[in-house]
Amino acid sequence: MDVLVLNCGSSSVKFAVIDPVSSQEEVSGIAQRLGAPEASLDWKRHGKKDTRPTPRAGHEEALRAIGNLLNELGLTDELIGVGHRVVHGGSKFSGSMAITPEVIAMVEECIPLGPLHNPPNLVGIRVAQELFPGLPQVGVFDTAFHQTMPPVAYTYPVPHEWLEAHSVRRYGFHGTSHRFVAKQALHLTGLSPEKHRLVTAHLGNGCSCAAVRDGKSVDTTMGLTPLEGVMMGTRSGSVDPAIIDHVAKALGKPEREILDALNKKSGLLGVSGLSNDMRTIEDAAARGHERARLAFDIFCYVLAKSLAALVVPLGHLDALVFTGGIGENSVAVRARTVEHLGFLGLTIDPHANATHGRSQNGRITEEIRPQALVVPTNEELMIAQDTAEIARRR
Ligand code: ADP
Repeated sequence: MDVLVLNCGSSSVKFAVIDPVSSQEEVSGIAQRLGAPEASLDWKRHGKKDTRPTPRAGHEEALRAIGNLLNELGLTDELIGVGHRVVHGGSKFSGSMAITPEVIAMVEECIPLGPLHNPPNLVGIRVAQELFPGLPQVGVFDTAFHQTMPPVAYTYPVPHEWLEAHSVRRYGFHGTSHRFVAKQALHLTGLSPEKHRLVTAHLGNGCSCAAVRDGKSVDTTMGLTPLEGVMMGTRSGSVDPAIIDHVAKALGKPEREILDALNKKSGLLGVSGLSNDMRTIEDAAARGHERARLAFDIFCYVLAKSLAALVVPLGHLDALVFTGGIGENSVAVRARTVEHLGFLGLTIDPHANATHGRSQNGRITEEIRPQALVVPTNEELMIAQDTAEIARRR
C-alpha cells in the first residue's frame, strides 16, 4: 500500500513512492534541469543511486519518464493514490483535498498568487491523472496549515481594498513541514496534543517560522509570497519596501529587476557575496571571511528576533523546534540563535546540540520547559499520509 508523492517545481519534479504506514520509501528521485540538454532523471532505490538522461525533457516528459520508471520497478500495482504538493492555495484550502474539477479550477484561480509554482503543480496533476486514471489524486497545500491564523495576524496594515479586491494578505508557506514537525514535537516532548504552545523554525534554502497553538498555526513569518520574513539563502526576507523604488532609480533599472534581486541575489548570498549555502558561509566565516561572518550573524539575529515575536500570540513558550537542512544540521546556527533567546529561559546544552539532540528526543537545551529541539522534517511522508487518509475515505 504505497502513495506516489509528486512535487512539481519550476525547473524540477521531485517524486517518491512511500508506504504511509511504515514510512518506508520504495524509491525517491528528481527529474531536474528541465528544458536543458542535460536534463536527467535521478533516483535512489534501496540505497542505490541511478540516473538516466532525458535531454530537453519538460515537465510533461519528465512526469511520463517517472511513470515509466515506476512501471519498470514494478511499483505501480501497490499505489493507492497520488499526492501533489501545491504551493499556493490562497484562502480557498484549509486542508488537503481530493482533486476534483472544482479543486483544479480553484488552484487555477490562485495562479496570480503563485505564478511560478501553481502552473507546474497543475501540469503534475493533469499528467498524473492521465498516467494513473483509476487512482485518487490529492492536493496538499503549503498554505493550508496557516489558514487558522486570525485576521490580526494575516491582515496587512495597508488599504483594506487591497485585501478585498486583490487578496493581499499573509498566507504563509512550508505549512506541511510546520504541521509535520509540530506533531512530531508533541510525541518527543510529551506535550498534550490539546494544549501546547510551539514555535517552529523551518530553515532550508527558504526559511519560515510559525507559532503553533494547540495544533493550529496562529501566525507565521512568510506572507503573500515566500519573500517575507527571516533572512534566507538568496531571499532578503523582510526589508523596507521603499528600497525597491530607491534602488531602481539609482541603478536606472525596472522595479521588477530589483524585486528579482531581493528574491534571487540577497540573503546569505547577497551579504556574503559568496554563497547561498550555510555550510559554505560557516566554513568561510571560520576562516575569517568578514562578509560571511556578517551574513551568519544577521541570519541568527533576524531569526531570533522573529522567533521571539512569535511568542507574542502564544503568551508563553513550551518548545522551539528547529527543522530543515540548516535547522537539522547547523550546530552553530542553533547555538547562536538560542543564545539570543536566553531571556525566554532557553539555555543550550552544547553536547546535546553537537549531536542534534539525538540522545534526548531531539532536545538541545538544558531545561524541559521551555526547550529547543531538533525535529527532522518529512514533507513527503506528510503528503503520503494525507493522501492515504483521503483515499481511504472515498
Ligand atoms: P530546501 O529548502 O531546498 O529543501 P534544505 O532543507 O535541504 O533545502 O536546506 C538546505 C540548506 O541546509 C543549505 O543552506 C545547506 O547549506 C544547509 N545545510 C545542510 N547541511 C548542513 C550542515 N551540516 N551545516 C550547516 N548547514 C547545512
